[in-house]
Amino acid sequence: MEIKKEGNFSEWYHEVLEEAEVVDARYNMKGALVWRPFGFQLRKLVFTHLGNLMEATGHQETLFPLMIPEGQLMKEADHLEGFSPEVYWVTKGGDTKLEVPLAIRPTSETAMYPMFALWIRSHADLPLKIFQTVNIFRYETKHTRPLIRDREVSTFKEAHCAHADQAQVDEEMALIRDAYNRFMDALCIPYIISRRVSWDKFPGANVTYSYDQVMPDNKTLQNATTHDLGQGFAKMYDVNYEDEGGKQQLCHMSSHGISSRILAGMIGAHGDDKGLVLPPLFAPVQIVVVPIVFKGNKEPEAKALELAGELSGEYRVECDCRDRSPGDKYYHWELRGVPIRLELGPRDMENNAVMLVRRDTGEKRSVPLDSLNQVLEETMLAIEHDMRKKAWARQDKAIVAAQSVDEVLDAEKKGFVAKVPLCCEDCGKALEDKLGSYEVRGFIVGEKPKGNCVECGKPAKELGLLSNAY
Ligand SMILES: [Zn+2]
Repeated sequence: MEIKKEGNFSEWYHEVLEEAEVVDARYNMKGALVWRPFGFQLRKLVFTHLGNLMEATGHQETLFPLMIPEGQLMKEADHLEGFSPEVYWVTKGGDTKLEVPLAIRPTSETAMYPMFALWIRSHADLPLKIFQTVNIFRYETKHTRPLIRDREVSTFKEAHCAHADQAQVDEEMALIRDAYNRFMDALCIPYIISRRVSWDKFPGANVTYSYDQVMPDNKTLQNATTHDLGQGFAKMYDVNYEDEGGKQQLCHMSSHGISSRILAGMIGAHGDDKGLVLPPLFAPVQIVVVPIVFKGNKEPEAKALELAGELSGEYRVECDCRDRSPGDKYYHWELRGVPIRLELGPRDMENNAVMLVRRDTGEKRSVPLDSLNQVLEETMLAIEHDMRKKAWARQDKAIVAAQSVDEVLDAEKKGFVAKVPLCCEDCGKALEDKLGSYEVRGFIVGEKPKGNCVECGKPAKELGLLSNAY
């Protein structure tokens, strides 16, 4: 790595993706990228974990077609208005102009709900909860950025649910929030949950909640969204059910999603000047064993292979016996975020010990081989705990509580994220108009405002989250 993270986050981010072989953005299409084998493993570990959480909360995995017929996409007016500038269209098959143009899914509400209408008959069929992991396409006109803003979002884990009533929706929203919280905690990523303001919510939704993370450049990254879709979609797609009294009722819908962007969040939160720093749970290689061969003494190599073999039952382990200097090897694995390195040289062998080095802190200690298993277990947990703590502390430091318009302006000038007491959306909009590129991201969930609305002086009801956003 040549670029320092502090003060050069964007350049650092591009360099680390390339050098650590996560993705390659040189594919000959703007906003599309190639997952390299190392990055693919990382992606797989992250999204398998999320899939397990979705299944544990009662969602079943499905797979829907990539293309959506024009009329079907166009049915929900708000949804269409929100997405139409970004939709890719297939208009020809070979040389033949298609009678019905086909949209490439920008998201799958309109692909799924006509099928829901066929599947759902009675209240006993509800809630219906499914998810799929697919690529989605959006013709982004803003500056594209690998994993953060792609035209082909290569991984989107989207859940879609039909419910009998608002109580079932609320139950689902709470379940998803709990699952997403646990997912972010596993990734050691900090988050702020907010209710999106009406001009920024998901097109067609009643309410959108989102998870924002403050990135190292103090811009917020929206990592996850969860939507109460109300009955609008159900009405347009005839998603009905027969209630217990035999009456036809309209379903309520909800949808929830996390994309490959979450990897940008994880990489951004934890990486350093040496490269990636990965939470042990998701590191494709959790432990690397490096033999220190000295004056042609190959014994450490044999011992390192043996040790790696023993540990591979419990962990994802590599033994690096390549003919390179230890320094080169350290560089290679530090770049790829391997949480623990075990060095094994002649002196360590004499002491019946290994040198354990933590990637996140650089801390080094000699560990007797007979207590290695326990120390590894404790160290993995300590790394996860410390990474989470550090990332939250970094985020907290980036946020200021502003109590007046001047303080908001000052926060923007100094590049902080601001929490701002407001009374309503209108005052949020009025405040936004006085600012530069700062946006009202939403009203923070779970935190009460103190004092009065900075815009009108009436008692505040909401705590606005203001920032520059990706
Ligand atoms: Zn106000």
